[in-house]
Amino acid sequence: MATKLGNPKQTIEIIQKHGFMFQKKFGQNFLIDTRVLEKIVAAAGVTKDDCVLEIGPGIGTLTQYLAEAAGRVIAVEIDRNLIPILEETLAEHENVTVINQDILKTDIKGLADAYHGGRPLKVVANLPYYITTPIVMSLLEGEDLVDSITVMVQKEVAERMMEGPGSKEYGALSLAVQYYARPEIVANVPPNCFIPRPNVGSAVIRLTKHETPPVQVKDPKKMFQLIRASFNQRRKTLPNGIGNAPELPYTREQAAAALEKMGLSPAVRGEALSLSQFAELADLLE
Ligand code: SAM
Repeated sequence: MATKLGNPKQTIEIIQKHGFMFQKKFGQNFLIDTRVLEKIVAAAGVTKDDCVLEIGPGIGTLTQYLAEAAGRVIAVEIDRNLIPILEETLAEHENVTVINQDILKTDIKGLADAYHGGRPLKVVANLPYYITTPIVMSLLEGEDLVDSITVMVQKEVAERMMEGPGSKEYGALSLAVQYYARPEIVANVPPNCFIPRPNVGSAVIRLTKHETPPVQVKDPKKMFQLIRASFNQRRKTLPNGIGNAPELPYTREQAAAALEKMGLSPAVRGEALSLSQFAELADLLE
C-alpha cells in the first residue's frame, strides 16, 4: 500500500529512497502539513463531478488528497525526476493522470476536451512561485477554461490580487484578477509547512470566475493595455504614461481630455483609478 503523504517523515523517506535532489529553479517546496492540505481541498470545493488540473504535483502529496475528492485529476509536472516517485505514490489512484510537461507550454483547453468533455476545469495547486502571474493570467483569460482556481502563492502576491485603488500594492495584477474573478484569501501558511522552507510567507487564494465581468467595456484588450501602460510608469501622471506607451495610439492630450470628461485631474496617477474608471477611460478613448 502506498504511503499517505503529508508529514515531514514520510516526505523525507520517499525523497531519500529515490535519491531525489530539489531543484531551486522549479520552485520546489513540498507541503508537509495535513491541515493545510485538507484546507486547500475544502476551499476548492472539489466534488466527484469535477476534473481538477493540478500544476506541479511534486511527490504527489496534494494529488493524493485531490484524487480522493475529485472525479479525475490531471497533474502536470515539469521535473522528470519526480515521475518515478509519482508512479509509486499515486499507484492506487486510478483517476489520476500524470503528464510530464511544462504547464506554460501545455494545451489546457485540449486537456479539458480530452478529460472533461470540454467543460471548465478546477485548478488546485501549490504553485511554483516563479510562474504565478503568467499561469494565473492565462487561466483567467481563457474562455470557459476554468471555473475556479485555488492556489498557494506568495502571501504578498495574494494580497496584491485583493487590493483596490490607493494602496501601494494595487496594480495591473489586482485589476486583471478582479475583472475576471472574485478573489478570497482562505488561509495564511507559514514557511514551516513546507520542505524546504521558503524564504517568504504563503497564502492560499481562491479565485472564482465571474459569469459576467463586473464592468462593461467595449474592448477589454485595449483596457488592459491602458492598465499596463499606467502601472509600467507608476510615478508618471496617467496622460504621460498613456502618451509614452508605444503600443497605444493615444496622445497625452487625448488622455487628459478623456480624464477631464470623467471629472478627473490630468495629474492623476493610475493607482487612483478603479476598474470601472479604467473601463470608462478605455471607452472614451475608443
Ligand atoms: N504539489 C506539491 C506539494 O504541494 O507538495 C509540490 C509543489 S512545489 C511548490 C511546485 C511544483 O511545481 C514542483 O513539483 C515543481 O517541479 C513543479 N513545477 C515547476 N515549474 C513547473 C512548470 N512550469 N510546469 C509544471 N510543473 C512545474
